[in-house]
Amino acid sequence: MSRKKLYMKTYGCQMNVYDSIRMTDLMHNVGYESSESYEGADLVVLNTCHIREKAAEKVYSELGRINKAKNKKKSEGGNMIIAVAGCVGQAEGEEIFRRAPYVDVVVGPQSYQSLPDLVGKVQRDSGHVINLEFEDDKFDKLAADIESQGASAFLSIQEGCDKFCTFCVVPYTRGAEYSRNVPEIYREAIKLVALGAKEITLLGQNVNAFHGKSEDGEVWNLGKLISHLSKISGLERIRYSTSHPRDMHDDLYNAHANDPKVMAFLNLPVQSGSNRILSSMNRKHTRDEYFRIIDRLREGRPDMQFSSDFIIGFPGETDRDFEDTMDLARRVGFTQGYSFKYSPRPGTPGADMDNQVPEHIKNERLQAFQNLINEQQIAFNESCIDKTMSVLFDKKGKRNGQIVGRNEYMQSVHIEAPDDLIGSIIDVRITSAGPNSLGGEIVN
Ligand code: SAM
Ligand code: SF4
Repeated sequence: MSRKKLYMKTYGCQMNVYDSIRMTDLMHNVGYESSESYEGADLVVLNTCHIREKAAEKVYSELGRINKAKNKKKSEGGNMIIAVAGCVGQAEGEEIFRRAPYVDVVVGPQSYQSLPDLVGKVQRDSGHVINLEFEDDKFDKLAADIESQGASAFLSIQEGCDKFCTFCVVPYTRGAEYSRNVPEIYREAIKLVALGAKEITLLGQNVNAFHGKSEDGEVWNLGKLISHLSKISGLERIRYSTSHPRDMHDDLYNAHANDPKVMAFLNLPVQSGSNRILSSMNRKHTRDEYFRIIDRLREGRPDMQFSSDFIIGFPGETDRDFEDTMDLARRVGFTQGYSFKYSPRPGTPGADMDNQVPEHIKNERLQAFQNLINEQQIAFNESCIDKTMSVLFDKKGKRNGQIVGRNEYMQSVHIEAPDDLIGSIIDVRITSAGPNSLGGEIVN
């Protein structure tokens, strides 16, 4: 019998990418195979993001298109189950069935281990099925089914958040902070390496707030966990994302300074360079504290590079506050950056603040800010020309005969080389630099 077809589409952060991988593993286990298109699929899963309004609205327009394919399949005597997973599912719940009644399943990020059961229920009984529970046994249920993610793999070690930044929906959609225990993480890392991973990125909404129990019941921080994982033979590179400045700690600084497997690149979200705005965002760190963290990491690893997340136009942001954010970016010198206009999210304190910044000002500031970050990125990319860098190649390039990978600093590097080098770490001399990637040749 031919296998049923699964189409999975992922929106949003790396945590969602990881969750999609795990949902795919689960469905493969019950007889589905992955499909590149939703046309003709038996099960379509949209793993959604609720962080900004635009991200959430995109889901509804995509659902409209998928419903046409569902109707077409129905008219040919087939059936397509549509599932909305992730943070839009968690935040909007039953509302999704009202706006898009052709959706069959809604499942939250804390309960997606039940996806095969929910799909089975729809097949048996039809009708709407929803699971938004915050279940504790999620990772236990997921543990058995790991498939290869290739040379570079994600591993979720922490979820949720207790920090309640005033702009953010995560504490509501992902729930309270939760850390997996160390032996469970170690076993998953060993499996990923056995399946071909040379690099693992440890994931969490606040990954450096990790506080998981070790074998003997002691609570470990992220720095300690990294040192433990670093002993795994065959694992060559370790990254972690996303961090909060308040959760940097001595063991983590030491891991950066002393462990060559820890990559010299960190995405450390600052959100704003203005102390006034940081306080109104409830970030609980100042710009000077942020500078001190950057300095300390650079003391330990002088070649350390940084990216960050920035919110432009948070309520009450004046020209002066915005200039502080520009100034912070100039002083740090980021090599990448993710900047977004503030998007008021219902239910968060920021949405009810009465000093919202007009849209046209947000647009102007965002443009100026992105120009600055782009200049910094291009300058860094150009400074790499003629340098030799080790690159982990993990996929084919866009052009025939090309393969692509990442260097230590998360820059994308492409070379002309045969596909069988995918999965290898190779020394490459950089010969060209574009705004978003580098070109190079293998050093013999
Ligand atoms: N935990 C990380 C931290 O503390 O910075 C960030 C994780 S958050 C899920 C990912 C990013 O989305 C944030 O860093 C922020 O820049 C952006 N973001 C969150 N809420 C937003 C909003 N309401 N409007 C615009 N961007 C937002
Ligand atoms: Fe959201 Fe990060 Fe703040 Fe938590 S710490 S509320 S995930 S921005």
